[in-house]
Amino acid sequence: MKACVLIEPGPAENLKILEVRDPGPPGEGQVLMKVEASGIDGHDLVVRNGTMRGRGEQLEEMEVKENGSWIKRPGLILGHEIAGTVLEVGPGVTDLAVGDRIAPSGESNCGVCEFCRTGLSVKCTNRAMAHNGYAEMAVVPARAMMKIPEGISAAEACIVRCAIGTCLRGFMLAGEEPKFHHNILICGAGGGLGIHALQIAALTGGFVMATTTSEHKIDMLKRYGASEVIYSPEGKFNEQVMKLTNGSGADYVMDTVGGTTFNNGGFRSLAYYGRYVFVGQINDEFARFAVPYLFWREAVLTGCNGGMYVDTQRGLELMAQKRIEAVISERFKLEDTPRMHGLLEKRQITGRAVIDFT
Ligand SMILES: [Zn+2]
Ligand SMILES: [Zn+2]
Repeated sequence: MKACVLIEPGPAENLKILEVRDPGPPGEGQVLMKVEASGIDGHDLVVRNGTMRGRGEQLEEMEVKENGSWIKRPGLILGHEIAGTVLEVGPGVTDLAVGDRIAPSGESNCGVCEFCRTGLSVKCTNRAMAHNGYAEMAVVPARAMMKIPEGISAAEACIVRCAIGTCLRGFMLAGEEPKFHHNILICGAGGGLGIHALQIAALTGGFVMATTTSEHKIDMLKRYGASEVIYSPEGKFNEQVMKLTNGSGADYVMDTVGGTTFNNGGFRSLAYYGRYVFVGQINDEFARFAVPYLFWREAVLTGCNGGMYVDTQRGLELMAQKRIEAVISERFKLEDTPRMHGLLEKRQITGRAVIDFT
């Protein structure tokens, strides 16, 4: 089969379209799926360039076809936002069948380890997650997947867990979910996480501010629910936030960018008792802050690792009810993946970009 393989951590050119061995057969608790859509996101960027290594995302020896013969070389097939159809079911899988349309449900816990049995399933030592999405077929753990409801395409479904579920869970982890009387700030609102966080924030009826460094995204951010868009090409925006909120600041900050945004104004935009939620890190800058500013404000800093089953389910429901929309601005062929990684890195993609295998 054809796959986009990372041959070594580094620039987008290190992603190569290669012929690799077909995966399978599926083992215990796994299914083999035909991939129909696969999202690319900031996590893929930082694994690709070597800033971080995702769980289960190490380069491994794999067989690739070169000049008509199979050779062994190190490689990694990225892609955790993966949707398609079940081709074959492994032993012990009872809730999925051949022909089912499936997408990631969330990083699923095992249900039987000590943590799972004591109500701490988020600390499960045997979590399962889907990988290998940048390929025509993939073997994935059945318990990390869920069936796609009628009326939702593979491209829409593949991004729900990561781009929508993460934001839903992020607001939940803030301690108390935002309401109509809150000021909510979405940093990096034009990106894949941001455009969905924005829609979720708008559902609360609160005053929603959206920051962007791209002027051409302003109108779209208003369309997706921003009460005010803060365009800041140099990335500084806290003074504008204070002005727009009559000096009180943002009760919630959802930061999809990470260290740079936090340092450039995100942190200083916090209201008294504000809650700051990190849901992404697209570069390697550390977040720095003056400690007194945190206790003066009695603010809370937290982060969210990704949507769980319940968040993905909520995301799909909100989509089915047409209350939020999966924003996919680019659908492209597998061969175009290296170029799209480059564009994503330069923040030139609005919403999500998805590899279309159909
Ligand atoms: Zn467990
Ligand atoms: Zn993702």
